[in-house]
Amino acid sequence: MKILSVNAGSSSLKFQAYEMPNETILVKGVFERIGLEGSFYTIKINGEKIKKEVPIKNHEVAVQILTEELVNLDVVKDLKEIEGVGHRVVHGGDIYKDSVVIDDNVLSTIEELSPLAPLHNPANLVGIQAFMKQIPSAVQVACFDTAFHQTIEEDRYLYAVPNEWYTKYGVRKYGFHGMSHKYVSHRVSDLLDKKYCNIIVCHLGNGGSISAVRDGRCIDTTMGFTPNAGIVMGSRSGDIDYSIIPYIMKKTGKSIEEIDTILNKQSGMLAVSEISSDFRDIEAKISERDHKAILAHYLFVNSVVSYIAKYYVELGGADAICFTAGVGENSPHVRRMVIDRLACLGLKLDRKQNEEMRLGKEGMITREDSSVPCFVIPTDEEVMIARDTYSFLN
Ligand code: ADP
Repeated sequence: MKILSVNAGSSSLKFQAYEMPNETILVKGVFERIGLEGSFYTIKINGEKIKKEVPIKNHEVAVQILTEELVNLDVVKDLKEIEGVGHRVVHGGDIYKDSVVIDDNVLSTIEELSPLAPLHNPANLVGIQAFMKQIPSAVQVACFDTAFHQTIEEDRYLYAVPNEWYTKYGVRKYGFHGMSHKYVSHRVSDLLDKKYCNIIVCHLGNGGSISAVRDGRCIDTTMGFTPNAGIVMGSRSGDIDYSIIPYIMKKTGKSIEEIDTILNKQSGMLAVSEISSDFRDIEAKISERDHKAILAHYLFVNSVVSYIAKYYVELGGADAICFTAGVGENSPHVRRMVIDRLACLGLKLDRKQNEEMRLGKEGMITREDSSVPCFVIPTDEEVMIARDTYSFLN
């Protein structure tokens, strides 16, 4: 059975086609600069990469080109062979606790939730509608970034603010990167061959979040009402004292929108290092003993370590700690700093294994005598979407 996994952004659309249930990738690609000058798409199939620069007026045109290519490239003879399309949707509020088959009701709910994710949910919707039109025979499934965190209990998802903020305006912790946390925690539970276990997942990318997972269910996560909370990120501050906001507004005369942009796009590693939001650029400067680059790493590692320690306690110990996403999968330097700081819990890094684990490699990076094994698990949100979609068809 063929299934498409789709991630539609405001000007991009990523896709990956699978043969299920064996999860073979048939083709994958991305449409970029949709609706903008210089739009193009790239497709990878059978080890070859195809790039075409064509006008892509909107998502519907992108999906039309995609479906034509699927036939031209012999991925399918007839589009009806694609039985399911799974869509990444950022916000499911506290309505969707799992992935769901899309109908009119789901479409309007995703739209109603747009104020909670104004940049993402509308783009996700446009993508869904384009596929509903182009492949009407397929079952369309919404896979929410927030759903995996819906098992978090009230005493951890509520903020200590007036109750009305929650009941009237939906202010609570939602958490994000759910498909990644779900994939990684399931994967490590398979590796450990343990269904009932405590896992801490560190999704460290440009955006980052950590989650505490007990027996496959998330009990806490670092991102909150929005993806701005939690650990220090590439260009986001993570947790700060909220009083800084009115203080800086008064001092600088900046508007709330400007401050929001600064905390989102000009803070985090970028602000502290004054180099870049990209860990590769900062690590290059660390080797030159650049003070700000080193400082940025310390701030980042401090925030990661403090949440791992918190979740270790909340879980009552951990069976595994996992590193994933761009930084987690590729930076032995960051992993070493984090694990060395956790030596007081009995964690012992295997330095050689840690150095080797990058570029999509999966494996353990701690020594056999470490109190908790740590793993690098390359995340795979796309396959998680395909699996959830398949589950509705099977
Ligand atoms: P997102 O999906 O949030 O954009 P990714 O998970 O793709 O983020 O991670 C991207 C980030 O991973 C880059 O910005 C960079 O900081 C980091 N990264 C990628 N490769 C390396 C590497 N070899 N060493 C250190 N950091 C890396």
